[in-house]
Amino acid sequence: MDKICIDELKIFAHHGVFEHENVNGQNFFINAVLYVDTEKAGMRDDLSCSVDYSAVCALLERVMTANVFRLIEAAAQTAAEAVLREFPQVRSIDIEVRKPEAPIEMEFRSVSVKITRGWHRAMIALGSNKGDSRGYIEHAVEQLCACSHIRSVRCSELIVTKPYGYTEQDDFLNGAVMCETMLSPHGLLEFMQSVENSANRTREIHWGPRTLDLDLIFYDDEIISEPDLIVPHPDMHNRLFVLEPAAQLAPYYRHPVLGVTVGQLYERLKKK
Ligand code: ATP
Ligand code: CA
Ligand code: CA
Repeated sequence: MDKICIDELKIFAHHGVFEHENVNGQNFFINAVLYVDTEKAGMRDDLSCSVDYSAVCALLERVMTANVFRLIEAAAQTAAEAVLREFPQVRSIDIEVRKPEAPIEMEFRSVSVKITRGWHRAMIALGSNKGDSRGYIEHAVEQLCACSHIRSVRCSELIVTKPYGYTEQDDFLNGAVMCETMLSPHGLLEFMQSVENSANRTREIHWGPRTLDLDLIFYDDEIISEPDLIVPHPDMHNRLFVLEPAAQLAPYYRHPVLGVTVGQLYERLKKK
C-alpha cells in the first residue's frame, strides 16, 4: 500500500502525569505514515482522490490541543482513531508521539510511543434461541452499527435453524455480519461479549439455550490460536447455520486455514 508521510509535526500541548506539565505545556512532535491507495490521485493529478495532508495535520493539532492526556499512549490512540474515522481512504496509520521535554532527570533525546491502527475486515456469526430472538439479534446489530470502532456493517438475512450439539432445545435464529473494525481481535471479542451481556446472556449448558451468542468467524486473514480466542472459528466449516448467512454476505472470502472460499464450504456441507 502507498504511504503519505508526515514528519516531525510540532504541536504545543499539555499532556503528562505531572500537574506542571498540564499547566505549563511543552512541545510534542508527531510522525505519521498514512497507508492510502494513491494510484488514482497519481494518474489524475487530483487531490480529491487522495488524502489532504494539511487537513490531517490540522486534525492532529486539534486532537492534541483539545485534550489533556496523562499518557502519550492515549494521545497516540486518540489521534490514530480520529484520522481513521475522518479520512475513510486511510486504511491504516502508523503514528509516533514524541516528547523531547519529558520530565526525566537524565540526558536523553526524546521518549515516544509508536502505534499502528487500521481498519480490519471481520465476520461475526449471531444466534439466539431464548426469549425475543429477533429482537436480541436486531439490537446486537444496532450496537455493532453504533460502535465508534466499527463501520460498514452488513447483515445477512436471519434464518431459523435446528439446534446443534445439544438438541433438546428450541430452534435457533441465526445470521451473520460483515464489518470493518479498528479494534484488535481481542478488543472486538470483548466488545462482542459486552453485547451478549446486554442481552442478559447466561452460560449454563454448553451449546445450550441462549438469548444471544456472537462468535468471531474471521478477522482479516489472521490465524489465532489462543486459550480465549480461536480464529477462524474452529467449527464454522461444519455449521450450515454459519455458512448459509456467511455465503450470502461474502461467498469469495477465503478461509485462511482451509484454503477454500465460504461459498465452496457452504456448497460442500450442503451436499453431505
Ligand atoms: P462454540 O464456540 O462452539 O459455538 P459457544 O458459542 O456456545 O460454542 P461460548 O460459551 O459462547 O461458546 O464461548 C466460550 C468461549 O469461547 C468464550 O469465552 C471465548 O473466549 C471463546 N472463544 C474462542 N474462540 C472464539 C471465537 N472465535 N468467537 C467467540 N468466542 C470464542
Ligand atoms: Ca457459538
Ligand atoms: Ca460464543
